[in-house]
Parts: sequence; C-alpha cells; structure tokens
Amino acid sequence: MRILAVFAHPDDESYGPAGTLAKYTVNGHHVSLVTLTQGEAGSLGGAKKMGEKALAKKRVEELACAAKALQIPDLSVFNLPDKGLERIPAEEGIYLIMQEIRRVNPDVVITFHQEGISGHPDHRTVSHWTFQAVKRIDRNIRLFYYGVSPQQAKKVTGRKLFPIPPEEITHCIEVGEYLSYKFKAIRCHQTQMELFRMLEKMVGDFSEYASREYFSQVLPYREFPEVQSAF
Ligand SMILES: [Zn+2]
Repeated sequence: MRILAVFAHPDDESYGPAGTLAKYTVNGHHVSLVTLTQGEAGSLGGAKKMGEKALAKKRVEELACAAKALQIPDLSVFNLPDKGLERIPAEEGIYLIMQEIRRVNPDVVITFHQEGISGHPDHRTVSHWTFQAVKRIDRNIRLFYYGVSPQQAKKVTGRKLFPIPPEEITHCIEVGEYLSYKFKAIRCHQTQMELFRMLEKMVGDFSEYASREYFSQVLPYREFPEVQSAF
C-alpha cells in the first residue's frame, strides 16, 4: 500500500499519527510525507528567540530527523507561510497537493480532521485543500482524516481540542508497539519539546493516551458497521 500524509507544520506528523505511519513503514508499506510550511512562526520555548530564517532551517532539519525516525523514505517540505495558509488562494494550495498526489500515486491519503484538532487555521486549511485535491483527482484513493477521540480530547485538560465525533470514527489503529518510533520522532523536534512536556503533564500516562490513533474515512464516504483496525 502507498500512503501519503499531508500536514501543515514540521511536528504535526509526530504529535499526530506517527504511530500509524511507523506501523505501516515498518511493515513494508510505502509512506510519503508532505509538510506545507517550515514552521517559521513557531512560538514555543527557544523558538521565540530565533529569527524566522534560522527557525525554519532548524525545523526542517528536525522534520528530516523525525521522518528518518519513522522510517519515511519520501519527505517533501514546502515553504508556504506558517500561520498564513488561509491567506493563500485555495486553488494554489489544492493544485500543489494534487501535484504531490500525482507524483506519489497513493492508495491512502491522510490529513487533519476538518477542525484541525486544535482548531489551528493552518490545520483546518490543509484539511480542506487535501479533501478538494483527492476529490478532484478522482482515482480510487481513500482519504482519512486523522483526529483525537472524544476520550483523548477530554484528557487534554488545559486546551480546547476538537475531537472527531464518535459516529464519524471509522478506524482505530493500535500503535502501542510502535510508540518508540513516535517518541523518537517527537524528540527530533527539539524546538517543540515544550508541547510534549505540556501534553505529558495534562494526560498523565502519555503512552496509554497515544496507544490508539483515530481516523475518519471521508472519501469515498462510507459508514462502517463497526470501527476497523487497519486501512
Ligand atoms: Zn501544526
């Protein structure tokens, strides 16, 4: 199977569905990752003191490190404006993602759930663009939104998250065995470690929290009689 993950920022993949991406790479599937921005607007910890150019360079290096940790052989990083995706004409973003889909020829595409988990405008925008891109290409591609479950969202007490509504969850992937890859990838994002420490504090047992990853298949739309455990 060929999988293409499309996200907005360096670290979305690691804090996002890294367990699933690792599970598929380790089991011989081909995974490509597309990241639309270089994360130059990052405002966590040490990143605040770095200039935009230096921060972008550092975060692209961190992303390459994370891709390696997840055994992802194909990484494309674009240079769209961090915290500014919604200002780009949608047609441009959709076109760019369509080009990547044509290049990679995936069976499965993964992006954020439409609310972007945190509600971040870049996350919502990449979700919208990716939906449109897959829809327009009209091949036999399955599109999955990645998100947190309502139970996971409840555990993150300090922040408002937008979970996938339970009736929209079509896939729950067990990734407990692959968490070492996820942790290794998270540690690559040194400029974002504050987020990890925050999450750890909020959710208690992070390994338990991260051991299942949730998806909603949106293209082609189908309702599942029961939640599936693999793509
Ligand atoms: Zn992000």
